[in-house]
Amino acid sequence: MMMSQTGVLMPFALCNTTGCIVGIDEVDRGNQCNCRCLSCSTPVTARQGESNQNHFAHRTDEASTVNECHYSPLTALALILRQELPTILALQVDGCIYEGLKWSVDTKAFGVVIDVFGIAACESTIAIEVPFANGVGLCIEELKPHVDAILSVNTNAMVQALYPREQKSISLSPNDIIELLLENWADWVSVIKVPVMKENISSSPQTDTEYKGSINSHLVQFSSDETPSQILCRCCNIRSGIRAGGLLCNECVFKNVGHRFPNLTEMARYYRDK
Ligand SMILES: [Zn+2]
Ligand SMILES: [Zn+2]
Repeated sequence: MMMSQTGVLMPFALCNTTGCIVGIDEVDRGNQCNCRCLSCSTPVTARQGESNQNHFAHRTDEASTVNECHYSPLTALALILRQELPTILALQVDGCIYEGLKWSVDTKAFGVVIDVFGIAACESTIAIEVPFANGVGLCIEELKPHVDAILSVNTNAMVQALYPREQKSISLSPNDIIELLLENWADWVSVIKVPVMKENISSSPQTDTEYKGSINSHLVQFSSDETPSQILCRCCNIRSGIRAGGLLCNECVFKNVGHRFPNLTEMARYYRDK
């Protein structure tokens, strides 16, 4: 059985067709998967339905197979988060709501390369550190004066929780991973720089409804009298919908995905058809 150099099975690979990272259960079997290794770019084959856990393996029949591959679960996770964090449209950091987020990845700003960088509709900025290895992260001190909020994802803790050694781990798709991160946000994300509340955010008519997406009760109360036209989450009918195209709130997604529904898509479908 082929493994990466470090002896770990590879549950993810890069799809040649879409350029996206995919999970082993999302692809066709064998060479039909049309994927390459996340780390060394060698074409891989999808090993499914064998006695072992489903995984990708380097294709040894390919002339381009390299001798050295540094694939690790941490590498995969850091890449997946770079792909999936930019799908988040709204984020709450310490009571501040960032809505209409536009993201860039590994982007240079303020003289620093920022792992994941978000600019909200109100022009507030968030830098998120997503380290590939222990102790290698952003130059936080240099960034502090320039961005409103700085977060750090503990990729190492995520790997330990999601891919425990000596244990068969469940197959996760990149989408599952971002859902798990949102679910365990407090455990896996630390706030390095707390945003300062901006007066103009709450007074702007454009962002009034956006404030109601907050799971912070203080903020929900603050705006509930003034904007009755908001779109409520179809699950709880209390908070505003900011996930699944405005259909659901974060809290209901956290509570139900993985329990009542296998994933966000299924949950959205259920409430859309309801
Ligand atoms: Zn490789
Ligand atoms: Zn809800």
